[in-house]
Amino acid sequence: MQKFLDAFHDEAGKLSVDDPATGRIIAKVKTYSPGEIDPIIDAAWAGQSVWARRPAKDRASILRNWFNLVMANQAELAQLITAECGKPIAESMGEVAYGAAFIDWFAEEGRRAYGETVPSMAPDKRVLTIKQPVGTCAAITPWNFPVAMVTRKVAPALAAGCSIIVKPAEATPLSALALEQLAVEAGVPSAIFRVTPATDPAPIGKLFCSDTRIRKLSFTGSTAVGKKLMEQAAQNVMKVSLELGGNAPFIVFDDADLDAAVEGAIASKFRNAGQTCVCANRFLVQDGIAEEFVSKLSARVADLQVGAGREDGVQIGPLINRAGFSKVQSLVDDAVAKGAKIATGGARASNGDNFYQPTVLTGVTSDMTIASKEIFGPVAPVISFHDETEAIRIANDTPFGLAAYFYARDVGRVWRVMEALEFGMVGVNDGVISTEVAPFGGIKQSGLGREGSRHGLDEYLELKYALMSGL
Ligand code: ADP
Repeated sequence: MQKFLDAFHDEAGKLSVDDPATGRIIAKVKTYSPGEIDPIIDAAWAGQSVWARRPAKDRASILRNWFNLVMANQAELAQLITAECGKPIAESMGEVAYGAAFIDWFAEEGRRAYGETVPSMAPDKRVLTIKQPVGTCAAITPWNFPVAMVTRKVAPALAAGCSIIVKPAEATPLSALALEQLAVEAGVPSAIFRVTPATDPAPIGKLFCSDTRIRKLSFTGSTAVGKKLMEQAAQNVMKVSLELGGNAPFIVFDDADLDAAVEGAIASKFRNAGQTCVCANRFLVQDGIAEEFVSKLSARVADLQVGAGREDGVQIGPLINRAGFSKVQSLVDDAVAKGAKIATGGARASNGDNFYQPTVLTGVTSDMTIASKEIFGPVAPVISFHDETEAIRIANDTPFGLAAYFYARDVGRVWRVMEALEFGMVGVNDGVISTEVAPFGGIKQSGLGREGSRHGLDEYLELKYALMSGL
């Protein structure tokens, strides 16, 4: 980790990055004002057409170098993630591998950005399509996956022949800067992928949306900011991909394998201390099995080890900051005031200011704020339901539509529920759905566009149709 810190630490830097476990400052980094980003956009714009003209095979081989360098630095990058974002080191190692997998994947996909010939509507005409890079792109990324949220956007952009400027979250610029350094080492021209940390994100968002040299904005973060950016991007009818908040239901039916459901629940809810946009947010459990499920889940949750992410065996790290902690505490307080019961947890953990005990709440009802707000903390609210129709009604009763999960064995029920859930991603008998091979993204107010899979490349490509006449 030190070699990266040595490269980025800037005593005069305006952005201080702290360790959420201790509050200690890890590094200060240089920030960029809109005026300083202007020449960076210029260079990215000028360099993009040169990058796009290189054979896809060359771009693929540079991306492959980048993938190899990221994996060769897996342990160092993982330490950096844990230091700035707090998650347990085992999860950070997993994130580096997951993030790198997008680079590997898009190195291959970029070579298959095929056009098509279409059976013609006239004897002397031919119809064909080609795919071309959208141009210079901008990305704004969140703090909860400081490596993977960057590679998920940058790898397909570079593979498609775009250039890209990334403004990382204020809390976690270090991982993004490390990725930029490794990309340059791998052979990505420095103008083609730039990272520009900032202390005040709003003017940077405005710049990205108003500069006509930038053709696309990819954003991952809160729905409120996503809406603002979409409105700003409308001025130039700029392409946008938005990966926003969720309110994931995790449904356990009475024919489920309960032990598997409990393990799935732990994986889905407690990863990154509950701070992922696909974390289970509401546990809907069929009434006949609710007591048994809650007792098994609570026993597992009470056993989770809380501590600083760098310590051995820790499963639950700190929340990102005081605001994150206060939000979780107030959601639990509101639920308890309205009649929810604490099965385990329910208070600050003794490890430090930002630590919250892994918690299970029972008797949760839809009038409690915790049932409708994204928790972003290690709290599992349990709501019981009577039948399939009621489960689907409660699950879909949200403006969000990112991820949903359910456990059931009956094949008819599996199909019915999977089809009825209004979410972009559904985990059936699984609590972890993220993979580079599948399209990640939401419907309703959870966003637009998909990341990963073959569809993820299309987000950075324009489809051009050509009609050849007079043959
Ligand atoms: P969170 O609540 O998880 O921090 P945000 O949506 O506030 O989610 O932050 C996600 C990213 O959006 C971060 O990089 C942050 O700097 C950026 N951001 C926050 N507010 C704005 C804004 N008004 N315009 C552009 N980017 C913003």
